[in-house]
Amino acid sequence: MNTATTQAFIRTGADYIDSLRGRDLTVYLFGEKVTEPVDHPIIRPSINAVAATYDLAQTHPELATVISPFTGEPVSRFLSICASAQDLVNQNKMQRRLGQLTGTCFQRCVGMDAFNALYSVTFEIDEACGTVYHDRLRAFLTEMHRGNLVVGGAMTDTKGDRSLAPHQQADPDMFVRVTRRSADGIWISGAKAHQTGCLNSHWLIVMPTMRMSPEDSDYAIVGAVPVDAPGITYVYGRQSCDTRSAENGTLDAGNARYSGQEAMVILQDVFIPNRYIFMDGQTAFAGMLVERFTTYHRRSYVCKTGVGDVLIGAAAQVAEYNGTDRASHIKDKLVEMTHLNETIYGTGIASSYQGRPTRSGAYICDDMLANVCKHHVTKLPYELGRLAQDLAGGLVATMPSEIDLNHPQIGALLRKYLRGRADAPTEARLRIIRLIENMTLGRNAVGYLTESLHGAGSPQAQRVQIARAMQLEYRKRLARILAGIDEVEDSGALADELTDYFAEVFRPQEVSSRSSNGVQVAGDA
Ligand SMILES: Cc1cc2nc3c(=O)[nH]c(=O)nc-3n(C[C@H](O)[C@H](O)[C@H](O)COP(=O)(O)OP(=O)(O)OC[C@H]3O[C@@H](n4cnc5c(N)ncnc54)[C@H](O)[C@@H]3O)c2cc1C
Ligand code: SF4
Repeated sequence: MNTATTQAFIRTGADYIDSLRGRDLTVYLFGEKVTEPVDHPIIRPSINAVAATYDLAQTHPELATVISPFTGEPVSRFLSICASAQDLVNQNKMQRRLGQLTGTCFQRCVGMDAFNALYSVTFEIDEACGTVYHDRLRAFLTEMHRGNLVVGGAMTDTKGDRSLAPHQQADPDMFVRVTRRSADGIWISGAKAHQTGCLNSHWLIVMPTMRMSPEDSDYAIVGAVPVDAPGITYVYGRQSCDTRSAENGTLDAGNARYSGQEAMVILQDVFIPNRYIFMDGQTAFAGMLVERFTTYHRRSYVCKTGVGDVLIGAAAQVAEYNGTDRASHIKDKLVEMTHLNETIYGTGIASSYQGRPTRSGAYICDDMLANVCKHHVTKLPYELGRLAQDLAGGLVATMPSEIDLNHPQIGALLRKYLRGRADAPTEARLRIIRLIENMTLGRNAVGYLTESLHGAGSPQAQRVQIARAMQLEYRKRLARILAGIDEVEDSGALADELTDYFAEVFRPQEVSSRSSNGVQVAGDA
């Protein structure tokens, strides 16, 4: 019996940390099996970041909880199905806040976005194919709400030769696939790469990573597995400077309390009973699932603006410690950082405000604006990082260690020469510089930079979606009308031509923004 199905309702961060103990997971890090991940000094900061989501729910329930439509009880907003544009917006507000509080990836959005995408996709598969996936998903969600559990989203396959479809690969395990079936369920094998927060979750939802053709039917699989299911091996991803978390002291880590987490998840004949299968062979819907998931997830990158708030604060603080804060170019660079950060926020939150209902009743955010948000995220945090390093000075890459700072012979000398303004303690200056290092070169640069680039799809994936949605014919028509090439009898006639993205842009706000606080999802009994 796995621990996830017997878990009592989790309320606090401390409850959550306790819930991860004793699961007997197979986890490798540096070639060794980790007996208890909760107590591992390199893993623990990532657990603390997830615990912060529970603690925020305690202190700010209006931001981080919803009333479950399935149990009638308050549960984490990370488990919510959005029933209005306001629900989507509130997810973004919670994400920015948690980014501010942790300065890293708090790991719960992939599962949240997977639930929301699956809610509408299972509904539409059932409509088309007469299957029962939607009811199974709702039963699964009810189970997750009863325990207030953490669910990870496992989409990215290892993919082998990127130019080939799953069924064309030399090794058939390059994409997760069904290897055996019985009347009770299926067995899957393969591996999921870069899985955020997988060890810190109670359950994982395995999903296909791309569009599929009928020949890929064994790969078109969506199912939920407990993290401690037999047959799963986790190999922990190294992060830049990760071993600093295992050293004595807290200064060199930069952010000693929090980090993100990614691991490779190797699945070897993992059994999924029928009740946890939400797609099996419906290849025509794999693309729909990937697109809807990425639409939700690409606007979830508003999380980076909370992290950006910390980085802007660190840059301003180091300038103050360095005695440069009144220089005009420093002020201007802080304005530039803020402008870039709010540009990300603006597009992400706009995508949520422009949410629309799907046939299932769940709301989905705007696809064009979500892709624009994520595309900004592939670039702007790098520029924010560059500006923060500019303000910090070269010490961000050359600072002596904490051990040297505390050394009986050289410590006092170092503290003398590493001082900035006379009224600022040397150690405070060094701590802020280490934080900037952590976010732009160290452990949390994984989440702030590389994850910004590749997470939810590499930059080209957003450009493809933007190209699909950009309605060039309509825009050309606007130009032809004003240039006197096309004639329209009255300007109202143009409004009748609005479809797709522009139909959403010009949809009156009161229609698109029905507030429900997650209490009702259409289709609920
Ligand atoms: C920190 C981090 C956390 C992540 N968390 C999760 C998670 O929780 N869950 C999850 O499912 N995934 C997660 N991901 C995975 C993420 O979605 C992938 O990294 C992303 O989709 C890119 O896939 P890839 O890494 O295999 O790179 P690739 O797909 O190999 O991309 C590398 C380059 O090749 C290009 N390319 C790829 N295929 C083709 C092609 N067929 N033709 C032409 N060009 C191509 C890309 O555009 C890109 O420029 C995470 C990634 C990171 C870095
Ligand atoms: S990178 Fe951001 S959106 Fe993705 S799981 Fe982490 S905090 Fe959430």
